[in-house]
Amino acid sequence: MFYPAPIERLIENLTKLPGIGRKTATRLAFFLLNARGSYITELSTSLIDIKEKIRLCSTCFNITDTDPCEVCRDGRRNRSTVCVVEESSHMMVIESSYPGCFRYHILHGVINPIEGIGPDEIRLKELRDRIEREDIKEVIIATNPNIEGNTTAHYIGEMLKPLDVKITRIASGVPVGGDIVYIDPLTIKSSLDNRKNL
Ligand SMILES: [Zn+2]
Repeated sequence: MFYPAPIERLIENLTKLPGIGRKTATRLAFFLLNARGSYITELSTSLIDIKEKIRLCSTCFNITDTDPCEVCRDGRRNRSTVCVVEESSHMMVIESSYPGCFRYHILHGVINPIEGIGPDEIRLKELRDRIEREDIKEVIIATNPNIEGNTTAHYIGEMLKPLDVKITRIASGVPVGGDIVYIDPLTIKSSLDNRKNL
């Protein structure tokens, strides 16, 4: 027993969303079926808009609806420091701790040979061009502290070595509020390697 074809098609499309199984998709489909027309129009327009209006900033590759993006246009930011992150969502996290401080460069991925992602597949060349073109004094590499993030950080370090720019890497170690008893040995090692004078 199937629902009428348009409802089945909607359920099928909703199950393609992450974390949505057929049961939830069916519940959502019936919610939408009973929703006001104005809500359906608003929802469809917002879906089309993210495809038509969202693009990448030609300077930092942040997702944006204007080019340059809001962050690149912000004249109050430190123009000599660029923080390199894997994704736009990572930039948002750093912004919540250091609002309005840095400029950014979004790589849109990390080097991952197992998945066939090499340096040319992410925005590394654009980073190098930018460091050569702009008056940047420091590059903070804020890729994740895992194998792929560290490989990418190392690659960036080598790539920018010939240029007159300071390269720093975010520290990794015991999380704030953490307990040493529950920390894995690799994180403990990293904390010791990155220890600071008191
Ligand atoms: Zn930008």
